[in-house]
Parts: sequence; C-alpha cells; structure tokens
Amino acid sequence: MTARTLDGKALAGRIEDSLRVEVETFSRLEGRAPRLVVVLVGEMAASASYVKSKASAAARVGIDAEVVRVPATADTEALVALVGALARDEQGPADGILVQLPLPGHVDTQRVLDAVPADRDVDGFHPENAGLLSQGRPRFIPCTAAGVQRMLVDAGIETAGKHAVIIGRSDIVGKPLALLLAARGTGGDATVTICHSRSENLAAICRQADILVAAVGKPGLVTAEMVKPGAAVIDVGINRIADPAAKGGSRLVGDVDFASVAEVAGSVSPVPGGVGPLTVAMLLANTLLAAELRMGQGPR
Ligand code: NAD
Repeated sequence: MTARTLDGKALAGRIEDSLRVEVETFSRLEGRAPRLVVVLVGEMAASASYVKSKASAAARVGIDAEVVRVPATADTEALVALVGALARDEQGPADGILVQLPLPGHVDTQRVLDAVPADRDVDGFHPENAGLLSQGRPRFIPCTAAGVQRMLVDAGIETAGKHAVIIGRSDIVGKPLALLLAARGTGGDATVTICHSRSENLAAICRQADILVAAVGKPGLVTAEMVKPGAAVIDVGINRIADPAAKGGSRLVGDVDFASVAEVAGSVSPVPGGVGPLTVAMLLANTLLAAELRMGQGPR
C-alpha cells in the first residue's frame, strides 16, 4: 500500500473537541444546551444504528439530543403533523430537526422533509437551504458533502484548479458536493464532473480525476484501473456485505476496492472510519449553528 489513509475518525474527534468548547459557551449564554430532535420511523437496523451514533456524538459535545420513535405504520399525514408539532417546540426547544431516511415506502418522503422549517433543517435538504448553497451563500450544508470537503481541506489536498469527479448525483451527497467543490474559496474552485448511472465511459472519466469521490452504494465499483496515480479517492459508500469470518457474519465496506486502489492513489479514505464520522460531526456543527441563529447569536 502506498496511499495515505484519510482518517475521518481522528478528524471528527478534533472537530468535536472544538465544538464542545463552542457548545459550552452557547449553553452558558442561553442557560440551555442546543437541542437536536431526530425522528426515527420504524425498526430498520441501519437507521437505528446511525441515529444511535448521532445521539451519542451529540452527548459527547454537550448537545441535547432526543430521538422520537415512530412506528413503521405511521402515514405521511401523521409524520407531517409530528414534524409540525416539533417545529412549534411543543416537545421542548427543537433547534435542529432531522428525519432519519429512508422512510417506509408508503410515506411521501418529500412532503415530510418539506415540513421541516428551513431554519431547523440541520440536514440541509430544504429547498431554501439548497438554493442558498447553489448561490454560494450556504447556511446548512448537507452533512456528508460538508464532511467530504472538510476532509480534503484538512488533509491539505488542493482543490483549486483540480478536476474533481463525483460518482453519484443524489440531493444528499453528489449534487451538494459538486456545488461545494465548484464554489469559490477554500476547498472549492475545482473543475467538477458529476457521473451517474447513465454515464458512459465511467472508468475513462474517473481516470482524469485528481479527486475522485464515490457516492453510489455499490461495493467494489471503483477499482485501481479507474484511478489516476496519485489521486485523492474519497469513499462515501456504505454497504453491508456477507463475510462469514466477521462478527455477525457481515461487515461494512465502501464503493472503493480499498486494497487495490491504495496501491495507485495518493490518498484514500477508508470505510468505516472515513466520511461516516465526519457526516456526524457536521450534523453537530449544523445543530449548533441552528441554535445560534435562532437565539440571535450568529455563528462564531
Ligand atoms: P442514492 O441511491 O440516492 O444515489 C446513488 C447515485 O449513484 C445515483 O445518483 C445513481 O445515478 C448513481 N449510480 C448508481 N449506479 C451507478 C453506476 N453503476 N455507476 C455510476 N453511478 C451510479 O444514494 P446516496 O444517498 O447518495 O448514497 C450513496 C452511498 O453513500 C450509499 O452507499 C449510502 O449508504 C452512502 N452514504 C454515506 C454517508 C456517510 O455518512 N458516509 C451518508 C449518506 C450516504
């Protein structure tokens, strides 16, 4: 292996350390901690585990996190009403409101997400926040996209003038990340290509990338042949694959064939321990920002 491993877990720890200090200041000034409310619908194991790690990370920095559990049978109307009640602070101050995705198939996800007011939207999914990001004046940036940019900046990986290829065009990861990397300023000014399921010649496009980001959800999609020597490869994918040798018979992998890509790339992020912890750290940062904006403190 020649590539440098981009340790997202260590960086997330450093971000938490500085957030802890800021949260303490907020709490002293306001007489209460910033508060995040997470709506968890149903019993999906992956969602429950993501929510658990969000809540424990919040606790580590002094953010008050509440998980509101709803049965999988809840319909769209009930969820919209619940989010509305949370937004009116009927269950305590809700600085940040997050609806854990995916929602059950019978629910209109867009309607539920749209019920989260723009100023509590710590996931950055509201059209107003997406619009602000696209205009280059972001408020709440979708957490995973923000985490990827933070990882690049922290590692000293130059983005200005470089070619960044992003595989995946979702509203959650690919699209906001493309906007961030193409925006002016630190961690931006890149030339960005977005690839997706209909892209032709994917490997050839990827081989042109100085920065290659995989956000698809297909294990082993990115192989060494798709990577330019020395490139930075960021693996956003989270996939659970069967592995009889692993505890519980399965383990998590990304979209990148880590072992072969690490022989070619200049740096590569692992799964787990790469982008995942940064996504959570960015959620905490957004929650503090939401609380500060609401209390008129403004971001520090
Ligand atoms: P999504 O399903 O909404 O989007 C997947 C994208 O991949 C689509 O734009 C699609 O066009 C593209 N795609 C599918 N097959 C392709 C192919 N063969 N070649 C090229 N592109 C292809 O998924 P998402 O919500 O953006 O998540 C993507 C992955 O990232 C998933 O594995 C998800 O679990 C993971 N994820 C990780 C984090 C984190 O914190 N690390 C956060 C969010 C999502």
